[in-house]
Amino acid sequence: MTADARFDVTTTTTCGYCGVGCRLEAHAVGDHIVAVSPAADGPANKGHTCVKGRFAHQFTRSRDRLTAPLVRENGELRLASWDEALDRITFDLTRIKAEHGPDAIAGLASARATNEDGWAMQRVFRAAIGTNNIDNCSRVCHSPTSYGLRKSVGLSGCSGSFDDIEQSEVLIVIGANPTQAHPVVGARMKQAALNGTKIITVDPRRTELADVGALHCSLRPGTNAAFLNGIAHVLIRDGLVDEAFVRDRVEGFTALADLVQFVTPEVVEEITGVPAADLVQVAHLWGEARTGSIAWGLGVTEQRYGSECVQMICNLALLTGKIGRPGCTLMPLRGQNNVQGVSDIGALPDCYSTYRPVGDESVATLFEATWGVPLRRERGLSLPEMLDAAIAGKLKALWICGYDIGQSDPDTAKVEAALANLELLIVQDIFENETSREAHVMLPAASFLEKTGTFTNAERRIQLVHAAAAPPGAAKTDLEIFQLVSARLGHELPWSGPEDVMLEIGALTPKFAGVTYERIGRGGLQWPVAPDGTDSPRLYEQSFALPGGKAQLAAIPYKPPGDEASERYPLILVTGRRLEHYNVGTMTRRTANLELLPGEWLEIHPDDATAHGVADGQQVEVESRNGRIQVTARLTERIAPGHVFTAFHFPETRTNLLIGQSADINTSCPEYKVVAVSVTPARVGSGAARTHAVVA
Ligand code: SF4
Repeated sequence: MTADARFDVTTTTTCGYCGVGCRLEAHAVGDHIVAVSPAADGPANKGHTCVKGRFAHQFTRSRDRLTAPLVRENGELRLASWDEALDRITFDLTRIKAEHGPDAIAGLASARATNEDGWAMQRVFRAAIGTNNIDNCSRVCHSPTSYGLRKSVGLSGCSGSFDDIEQSEVLIVIGANPTQAHPVVGARMKQAALNGTKIITVDPRRTELADVGALHCSLRPGTNAAFLNGIAHVLIRDGLVDEAFVRDRVEGFTALADLVQFVTPEVVEEITGVPAADLVQVAHLWGEARTGSIAWGLGVTEQRYGSECVQMICNLALLTGKIGRPGCTLMPLRGQNNVQGVSDIGALPDCYSTYRPVGDESVATLFEATWGVPLRRERGLSLPEMLDAAIAGKLKALWICGYDIGQSDPDTAKVEAALANLELLIVQDIFENETSREAHVMLPAASFLEKTGTFTNAERRIQLVHAAAAPPGAAKTDLEIFQLVSARLGHELPWSGPEDVMLEIGALTPKFAGVTYERIGRGGLQWPVAPDGTDSPRLYEQSFALPGGKAQLAAIPYKPPGDEASERYPLILVTGRRLEHYNVGTMTRRTANLELLPGEWLEIHPDDATAHGVADGQQVEVESRNGRIQVTARLTERIAPGHVFTAFHFPETRTNLLIGQSADINTSCPEYKVVAVSVTPARVGSGAARTHAVVA
């Protein structure tokens, strides 16, 4: 109950938008959430929220919310009962498995759903269907972070906490725009800058944070590796290495020193466009500070060598001993609210929870003993491999939970072709979307404000989510849906609710051993969590989570990105996010945030606009080697000449038509951040996708 007489009930929960994980108070009158305010004791937000968490909740009662299952008949989706929808799913999955084997079926788990939902879905696929074909959207955002951190320091997560921001003398923010994409953390960084933290921003765009920073380095897209190796060069050349730390706790110094000895600031300037003197200044600010942290985002990971760049970021912390101490944190800014958690709990084709390989015999037998079924030892298909298999006719069924790949994934035309080639596409979501255009069955799901469970934020903090309202109509929670389908497939998921699921996660996952809802409480728990409930706000204080306990420096040379400017495509497009909307905008476009930002635009430098005959506010055609869209141009000096920027929040823009198949070499994360394009005034009737606002 609530102490505020204006509301019937106030429920403390966790924001379902970004990976900051703000704790919220959701206020309801009757069955309607009428207001949201920040929880004063939220560990990440400390009484603050952004425009999304605080105001973008009206989508829960949007008129076009899915409130009943839909099945396709004679080419059209029509209303159906749960029994009919579940019968259709069960019949088709059973038939496809019998005719083509379990590997003809695949699933995509949601980074917006809870840990318990993700756990249930991967169990359905591994145990009820018999395949490891399960993946999630981290494939297209932070899978390179996971890969790089595991290679360099051992664990796939932030090495400390957001509280390290204020304790950092220096903060490098590379390939991230936190004031837009992670606003509460962005605000904490701005506040820290006002209190003396020297912020260094590294980005092709001059971000808002750059305005309060000590130095902004505007580098060419795709050249992060040269920049990072150049800093390592200066640290070593100028005696800024913590020799005792490197000697006692790190391996690979000689190989790195040999590699970077020729990566001089002048060489780096040639490749990146960052003045040599600025690079030297960055290295000295970093190397001479007593404490320092590095935050990064998709501007690092969504590149051809993104995973290697994460290893190079780790190099800078390891060379100077800035890890495992207060104010010394490696801080990946995870995008969606639970993209950290959905990977932690093992909705991945090659790993069980906390990244233990599916081929690890001791792990697999542990799961077999609990689930009572034999489990496969071979890795399953990743998301890109699923799409390839669908186009090749080998994948027959795809079950997608809370993930609109039709709008968010690269190479939209290819995604559409893959979806159209399936015999069974199940879309489980809160609204119809671009993906569901091809769905055979749609299952109406509860939103984050209508379910109970946990999310894990970008600092590895597991936090409780509580239902503040009932799901509309016949919509069910994702967990309920997985339990219903699994039972029909002959594998009961024996839980009475999400709390039971967390107990199973803890029993099968040593790093979650002590996690219970009671211990999570209002403050959350940062994994690893010992059996007695002791959690881990800071990793690597004594040793690293790699064999021998030592971290690994990476000696990897710079290589050019997968795409480059040419005479035909002279500009480099970078895509990203904006403050008012979230991801594909499914939720925020159905709120008053649409009035704040009603459509998409292309940011272009005035010099480039002049060169290409483009005026401010003009509709332009943006063409890449992969596709063509139309969007409104806006002139701004925040973007460096030679580069343009847009987001992907509006389906009408179809931004991802422009993105090709270039991807991170280790994780297949698409190279959204380096796409060569031309920009020309739009021709009438050119057939390109157009932008306009949607009013829900
Ligand atoms: Fe906090 Fe992110 Fe939600 Fe904004 S969107 S309230 S920063 S968790």
